[in-house]
Amino acid sequence: GEALAVSARVAPLGSRLVLLLVEDLTEARRIEAVRRDFVANVSHELKTPVGALSLLSEAVMDAADDPEAVARFAGRMQIEATRLTSLVQEIIDLSRVQNDDPLEDAEPVAVDELVAEAVDRCRHPANAKQITMATVDAPDLYVWGHRGQLAAALGNLVENAVNYSPAHTRVGIAGRKVNAPGGNMVEISVTDQGMGISPADRERIFERFYRVDPARSRATGGTGLGLSIVKHVAASHGGEVTVWSAEGQGSTFTLRLPEAAGAGQNQDAGHDQD
Ligand code: ADP
Repeated sequence: GEALAVSARVAPLGSRLVLLLVEDLTEARRIEAVRRDFVANVSHELKTPVGALSLLSEAVMDAADDPEAVARFAGRMQIEATRLTSLVQEIIDLSRVQNDDPLEDAEPVAVDELVAEAVDRCRHPANAKQITMATVDAPDLYVWGHRGQLAAALGNLVENAVNYSPAHTRVGIAGRKVNAPGGNMVEISVTDQGMGISPADRERIFERFYRVDPARSRATGGTGLGLSIVKHVAASHGGEVTVWSAEGQGSTFTLRLPEAAGAGQNQDAGHDQD
């Protein structure tokens, strides 16, 4: 499966048909396995924050005349609620990725719209940590693909950048066009000033359910599925996702996708199909 996915990724866009047909099957099977694993895990994953919220709300009632304890419990309730929100978002992402054939529903998608949606999705946690989101306008940049899936992919990268960065740092998101032999590509990069990722972990973070630090990841609502979804979306669009990182300094994730040729000249193409 992996070899096919790789060969489909590097094949020039023009001769991808046969490979895609084969890849569709293996990828469909892979994503079905992700879904099965996820359903098996999700009941447990959902029970944890729901159970904690229930206990914590009882604790709040018992501690009504101890304001300090109430504040402490409320803080923990907020963490559990964040975790629930994040789990629900991942269920939505996974169903978007699983149910639709990306190339059947492909259209020119404005990079600026994807970036705006991803920033919006992370507004809450970013504000809470006073993380600055720095974006660069790229008005004529369009990628070719499935709008919902691309939004899920970029949303996950930006969410991770915010989750794995300390307060008062900066997350930068930028898109640019790159010339490639098989056709122009677009690179959307997400750069953070966070904890970084060790070389050994860099090899594994795109595997499903892999988390560098499960305890920390749990506190931020992580399930270890996000990057496997990003990788799947990139590959099924004929692109790829790569990571650069320096431990203690930060990381850059780059999503490389086929450009929607000519969409820049014909702006309507990007907007009519909303
Ligand atoms: P999770 O739901 O745990 O965030 P992901 O698949 O999105 O799962 O990421 C896998 C692991 O990769 C995370 O648990 C985290 O340890 C690491 N990781 C992902 N993005 C970053 C980042 N921007 N900086 C540091 N570590 C990261």
